[in-house]
Amino acid sequence: SKKGGKNKTSFYDSTMSRQIQEQLLLHNELKIAIQEKQFELYLQPIVETKTNKIVSAEALIRWNHPTKGLLFPDAFIEYAEQSSLIINIGSWVIESAFALYKELEDTLENIAVNISLKQFSQDNFEELLLTNAKKYNVDPHSIKLELTESIMLNNLNDTIDKMLHIKAHGFAFSMDDFGTGYSSLSYLKNLPFDYLKIDQSFVRDMLENENDKKLVKIIIDVAKQFDFSVIAEGVETVEHAHFIEENGCDYYQGYLISKPVPLKEFKKLL
Ligand code: C2E
Ligand code: CA
Ligand code: CA
Ligand code: CA
Repeated sequence: SKKGGKNKTSFYDSTMSRQIQEQLLLHNELKIAIQEKQFELYLQPIVETKTNKIVSAEALIRWNHPTKGLLFPDAFIEYAEQSSLIINIGSWVIESAFALYKELEDTLENIAVNISLKQFSQDNFEELLLTNAKKYNVDPHSIKLELTESIMLNNLNDTIDKMLHIKAHGFAFSMDDFGTGYSSLSYLKNLPFDYLKIDQSFVRDMLENENDKKLVKIIIDVAKQFDFSVIAEGVETVEHAHFIEENGCDYYQGYLISKPVPLKEFKKLL
């Protein structure tokens, strides 16, 4: 009927405008969050398997939202990456990671920082790293940059070139979330990564699921063939830790050791 049709249209209209309104709100709130320093980097310990010692940490962003409380990246990082806001947020993340490492340099070998494709692709990315290394007097060898397979969307030779320039200063690269995207083994061979991170989705079920178990073993094998160090994510139980240790994984992180925590709490774990 005519009436039903009209209702349908207005239903979609209002849903769409609600989504647009929510995005606009998020956009404005993110801009304010950058200015007002509402972001915080939490740290999750990374353990060396053979010594069982915390040698590193991954920096993970949190948003101390003025009314909604503590927000996790799934509430805003995807939007920040779609819009250009990730550039400013990412610059803040890098500077904060250097500052945090300065506080921990006596106890940790290095710190890992998540880098989005858009951020890595900026012309001044290398300069941003060097400026902060100088400002905080941090040795670039102490900074690990985590990139996902999305960087394979960029031109391969340009990517290799850029990575090699950055590595020449001492910075290291980790391939994050390996196996979840468009990984191609030939790309993996060509890209100058130092570490490979096994995604938590494989680790979670590896003891119950034969296929995940095989995948974890294969990923560790591939990493060894290409001379990458391997880090397992999402290690939640002693059994998980034993399995990855038996299979030659070099490092791990996960709730077994600790969730990501603020610097003050992190120091208590050391
Ligand atoms: P990711 O880089 O794969 O980070 C690992 C995620 O796994 C983190 O979620 C961490 O809290 C969670 N995790 C760690 N151990 C365990 C475990 O044992 N079990 C389970 N179930 N989960 C575990 P988080 O902090 O919510 O971050 C989600 C994603 O947001 C990150 O995934 C990363 O892609 C992105 N992200 C976080 N911080 C930043 C940042 O500063 N910049 C950028 N560009 N992205 C970030
Ligand atoms: Ca990561
Ligand atoms: Ca990951
Ligand atoms: Ca992930």
